[in-house]
Amino acid sequence: MMIDSLNKLLEEELKDIYSAEKQLLKALPKMARKASSVELRNALEEHLEITEGQVNRLEQVFEALGKPAKAKTCKAMQGLVEEAKEIMEEDATPSVLDAGIIAAAQKVEHYEMASYGTVRTWARLCGEEEAAGLLQQTLDEEGEADKRLSELAESFVNPKAESGNDESSSSSSKSGGSKKSSGKSRR
Ligand code: FE
Ligand code: ZN
Ligand code: FE
Ligand code: FE
Repeated sequence: MMIDSLNKLLEEELKDIYSAEKQLLKALPKMARKASSVELRNALEEHLEITEGQVNRLEQVFEALGKPAKAKTCKAMQGLVEEAKEIMEEDATPSVLDAGIIAAAQKVEHYEMASYGTVRTWARLCGEEEAAGLLQQTLDEEGEADKRLSELAESFVNPKAESGNDESSSSSSKSGGSKKSSGKSRR
């Protein structure tokens, strides 16, 4: 098919994101189950709910454009989900695994942010204000998810992973690494 207008390209990219979000509906529960800390599990479960809303919102975007809501397999998301699986299959200590899951999840969020930023701008250029507004809402949600993941990583997941200070690994506190570890961070 000849893509000879930004309108058409917008529609194609929306099919890609629609596929990407649907893939995440399947991947996020698996990632949440693998998370060791309740904070990370909650964040992933909440983002799953948000993602359900984003799928619905994309259907509203297609409707606003007068196009059928169709998905075209997003290969990039297939790859990102595949990498997340690889990390989750590793034999790792709980905090290290959480750090890896956060990294995989943030790659997903950044991919989504790039995609939504682009389609929001194209929609605006095409005079599709309603669609642009909807896409901006999702872009904001992806940004919030990314920020929350950074906060989890920086506040305790990475420090714990770095110090090897997981409950299971007894009292092998290394050197001067007196990182504060809230013992509440695991189920
Ligand atoms: Fe999303
Ligand atoms: Zn995609
Ligand atoms: Fe893609
Ligand atoms: Fe997301």
